[in-house]
Amino acid sequence: MSAFVDEFMAELKAKNPGEPEFHQAVLEVTESLEVVLDRNPQYRQAKILERITEPERVFLFRIPWVDDQGELQINKGYRIQMNSAIGPYKGGMRLHPSVNLGVLKFLAFEQVFKNSLTTLPMGGGKGGSNFDPKGKSDAEVMRFCQSLMTELCKYIGQFTDVPAGDIGVGGREIGFMFGQYKRIRGEFVGVLTGKGLNWGGSLIRPEATGYGAVYFAAEMLTTRGETLEGKTCLVSGSGNVAQYAIEKILDLGGKPVTCSDSGGYIYDEAGIDREKQAFILELKNVKRGRISEYAEKFKSAVYTPVDKAKDYNPLWDHKAECAFPCATQNEINAKDAANLLKNGVYVVSEGANMPTVPDGVNLFVEKGILYGPGKAANAGGVATSGLEMSQNSLRLSWTREEVDARLHGIMKAIHKQCVDASAAYGMEGNYVAGANIAGFLKVADSMLDQGVV
Ligand code: NAP
Repeated sequence: MSAFVDEFMAELKAKNPGEPEFHQAVLEVTESLEVVLDRNPQYRQAKILERITEPERVFLFRIPWVDDQGELQINKGYRIQMNSAIGPYKGGMRLHPSVNLGVLKFLAFEQVFKNSLTTLPMGGGKGGSNFDPKGKSDAEVMRFCQSLMTELCKYIGQFTDVPAGDIGVGGREIGFMFGQYKRIRGEFVGVLTGKGLNWGGSLIRPEATGYGAVYFAAEMLTTRGETLEGKTCLVSGSGNVAQYAIEKILDLGGKPVTCSDSGGYIYDEAGIDREKQAFILELKNVKRGRISEYAEKFKSAVYTPVDKAKDYNPLWDHKAECAFPCATQNEINAKDAANLLKNGVYVVSEGANMPTVPDGVNLFVEKGILYGPGKAANAGGVATSGLEMSQNSLRLSWTREEVDARLHGIMKAIHKQCVDASAAYGMEGNYVAGANIAGFLKVADSMLDQGVV
């Protein structure tokens, strides 16, 4: 670590104690940006890095609700409005027991760069709660979402801050939140994205993050004159992002062989085909079951439960060419990264946010594999949210083909920005540096234009 990075991080940690995920996300960006700051002293002078790592605003609030037994429950609610230099705050809401201020600040920070890369005018934000939707009835989820929105509606709006889904927030939760917003504010506007198709949603939005991560992998492969055709792919997670990553891998001729949830993973040597992918969608989105049931239904699959005593995840220890981590942060540790390389993986496209620990990232970059970091590879979701906002403003709905074509075009544009920015700063083929630099420049220049705010 250079003296500059060392000093900057020491100060950031002192100002933001107990937020390891936020420190991790900022460190990766700062390392990439040192060369940019050296070449462009105006950014240092205007303290852009100091300002971009400080949220413009943070809301922390109480979410009281009543469970099915009549018991009062209290959760914490958050919304981080990180940076609005290039547009209204935009970023998902996460409902998971692991949610805390540091996790949401890391996600909001990443979102600023990601949204900048999409080429659309969106600032960065993120929010959520430590509420666990698992095992809750629909009525409980509704009462919780209504209580959350009763407070959140004071801080968001179609021109100020437009939340979307993330872990634990899919179509059901967005519906309950939208209904409550409309009831309190008395207006039908595009204040959330990921809405239902009958009430302002966009075709392809549910598919967009997973599709985008696979488009990004395909784009990286074209730099070596290759395609996904016939390639074996490891996928983690079985939620929104994983489900549609699997679908797009199949569309492009690849062979997905794994997926997982927090209980364990399945390895299906015969491949997850379209019938099996449809089973996963039904299992997870309708029955809200566990991925172990996949192996009960399809005998070609083996289920392995999570073993906390292991210092690696066996999902990443199978022969393959490509890996799509689509579950959560830090799900690939250094040993997993080494196992991936050992097994022949040379394409990693991150559907999840920050799924690889820093030592794993360094290993991928050192070995020169095609490694697409989350803020570039999973930007298709928020990009399509941007397209949903455009359709709401125009009061029009584009066709499936039109939205998919725009998404594909945006993923190609993001890939090109990463390639160009990394080359401009002498780090050809380093998508981490490319994404951080390209994402930063647009926001930094906008901040310069807008003065000290
Ligand atoms: P989701 O539908 O809630 O699915 C999450 C999946 O990951 C589930 O299979 C879940 O298993 C697993 N998972 C979550 N936390 C875990 C943990 N701590 N350990 C092991 N497994 C865990 O969420 P999603 O929307 O697919 O999001 C997945 C990732 O993509 C997240 O990093 C998210 O920030 C990122 N992302 C999402 C979008 C989007 O549009 N949705 C856009 C960009 C990035 P269980 O069901 O057992 O918990």
